[in-house]
Amino acid sequence: MTEATGMNHWIDPNGIVRIVFGRPEDKVNVLSPDILQELGDLLDSVRGREDVRGLIFSSATPGNFIAGMDVEVIASFTDAFKAAEGARFGQIVFQKIEDLPVPSACAINGACLGGGTELALACTVRVAADSRAVKIGLPETQLGIIPGFGGTQRLPRLVGLMPSLDLILSGRTLDAKRAERIGLVDLVAPEAYLERETIKLLVKAASGVKRSRSFGARLVESTPPLRRFVIGKARKTAESKASPENYPAPFRALEAIDAAFSMPMPQGLDLEARIVGELVPTRTSKNLMWLFKSQSALKKDPGGIVALPRKVRRSAVLGAGIMGGGIAQLIADKRIPVRLKDLRSDALLTALRQASKIWRDQVQRRRLSPREMRQRLGFISPTLDDAGLAKVDIVIEAVVENLDVKQKVLAAIEERIGPRTVFASNTSTIPISDIAARAVRPERVVGMHFFNPVHRMPLVEVIAGQRSSPEAVSTVHAFALELGKVPVVVRDAPGFLVNRILMLYFNEALRLLSEGVTMEAADRAMTEFGLPMGPFALMDEIGLDTAHHAAAVLEGGFGKRIGTATPILQAVVASGRLGKKNGKGFYQYRGGKRTRPDPGVVKLAGTAAPLQLPVETLQERMVLAMVNEAAVCLEDGVVREPRDLDVAMVYGTGFPPFRGGLLRYADSIGPAVLVDRLARLADAQGERFRPAGLLRDMVREERRFYPA
Ligand code: NAD
Repeated sequence: MTEATGMNHWIDPNGIVRIVFGRPEDKVNVLSPDILQELGDLLDSVRGREDVRGLIFSSATPGNFIAGMDVEVIASFTDAFKAAEGARFGQIVFQKIEDLPVPSACAINGACLGGGTELALACTVRVAADSRAVKIGLPETQLGIIPGFGGTQRLPRLVGLMPSLDLILSGRTLDAKRAERIGLVDLVAPEAYLERETIKLLVKAASGVKRSRSFGARLVESTPPLRRFVIGKARKTAESKASPENYPAPFRALEAIDAAFSMPMPQGLDLEARIVGELVPTRTSKNLMWLFKSQSALKKDPGGIVALPRKVRRSAVLGAGIMGGGIAQLIADKRIPVRLKDLRSDALLTALRQASKIWRDQVQRRRLSPREMRQRLGFISPTLDDAGLAKVDIVIEAVVENLDVKQKVLAAIEERIGPRTVFASNTSTIPISDIAARAVRPERVVGMHFFNPVHRMPLVEVIAGQRSSPEAVSTVHAFALELGKVPVVVRDAPGFLVNRILMLYFNEALRLLSEGVTMEAADRAMTEFGLPMGPFALMDEIGLDTAHHAAAVLEGGFGKRIGTATPILQAVVASGRLGKKNGKGFYQYRGGKRTRPDPGVVKLAGTAAPLQLPVETLQERMVLAMVNEAAVCLEDGVVREPRDLDVAMVYGTGFPPFRGGLLRYADSIGPAVLVDRLARLADAQGERFRPAGLLRDMVREERRFYPA
């Protein structure tokens, strides 16, 4: 074995070269230039050997085959030519696998992503374990690049045009069964027999492998106008999700996939490498890779807290509203039993209906079978009382945002739950220490703040109260990870991190409305900036009563600076508009769909004569309001470093990932220009824009949030 790469190989008595990646004690295997070099040399050395009858690639790391090329390596390229050369190097090594005179096979025991999948594609056959750890895919477009080791050429040739477009453009992964269904793997074997079945299939492959695709699929692929039609449709779908200027990778992937059917392999590979080279140095791919590395680092870091988490086997959620229902769906989706309690049976019914809808959509998109859907639904047990709570490991409280109610709910539940059960509040603004103030066991009270919609937003803010125990905090952190979320540990202060920053954004939007700017114009300005929705649509989504309550808590904590426009929100709520949940908000809704701005709101907001402002002015006011508060949050120690803030804003609000986060965006402007613009806004608009002390210090000290 090579110490540095962990790659191991030998020839077994049947003449099969076994190549094993990784070590049993590793968590993940990634490819590096050293491993590729070693693999290339090994392939050269076995090529001419008469005693070699085949090759099998496997991994010694539990639950991980190869998670792809090391992102650090890809991100380190700053030059298109060198990045393309890097891709060509991997292509050459994998081509050696395909060119062997003997068959090759892969035994996929877990995560097989990016370069791992491309290695598997170069083999003659692929076998995957029937294990939940197996996920196979090409997620490169999510990093702002395209697969560069032959993936865009071999996948379409193996599984056809449509499945390739789906996999490469979305970057999503498949489990073993689904990978088998599209022909990406040849066989799914029980985990214990993975090696045996791989050997058997390899031996069979020596006498040739027959594969067939439907006549229709082959006709589309080989007829240029039909193929162009399908690719054109895929382009339209991609355009509806993101713009080619901000996210070029999916669009460039279309070119490469088309080449798989219109060019011989060597030219296709060359085009693939050139596109990778052009994409790697772009700001988008740099930011997306930085985000990927940062969220991976955060997952391993429970905010400096060192304690063994408690394993969650059973759970309960209190409150079956927008959030409680969503959280219960998420837990059940991971096949963990969850009791869902509400005072109202209609709330429970709505929550179950909502959960079913999420799963039904997945069934429709063939990501879930009807049987799996029924099973998952079965993990939620709705209830109107406190029965069955004694044995749960965690209770997540998601009742109304009111300190008194939350304290009462905690007091009542403390009598029911075991002494070590963690009580996690999903409060969006109320300090955890206040909720725990009258608790019998305040050490088990922690904040676990999900974002709306729960199944989509990856962020969970983990908040340690003054008396929360390290075990309770690390349990919430680990549970958030198990639910597939990105946990960021934040300080226990009103509004925590994301909502505090958002509140200044909402405030500015409401002020614009009162000055005569239309809600549509403000919302459009922010979607053009790259956010998934504008401030008014987002407030409707959150619920206007919840947003108003949050504004009041934040104003209580930080004074008028936060909520100069709160009275407008109050008037809108008082008029019975609660947002999307009751079909009436800043916008009107029909069948749950946003139709048009509600003209009644304009009157309530005391709006002046219509005012048209340039889109840049609207963006500047709303975004700089957030940047300034983000700087204050850093001064106040709400998060430990800019990285945590940027990851939280991207994963909690959808702040445009291609911009890398609020502070990376701020750095792209530079502190001197920022302070200048804020000072101008403060003179024109009011003190709320007065530049934060930290920003002024940065100008004086000539530093940025991130070192260059
Ligand atoms: P919601 O009004 O939709 O739901 C609250 C539910 O709690 C209702 O169904 C109500 O019947 C139920 N309830 C009230 N008292 C109860 C009790 N004693 N026991 C059991 N159930 C009870 O509210 P929501 O928007 O889901 O918010 C819930 C919590 O999550 C709040 O603390 C809120 O601040 C927080 N939160 C909300 C959002 C959001 O976008 N809406 C996002 C993050 C966090």
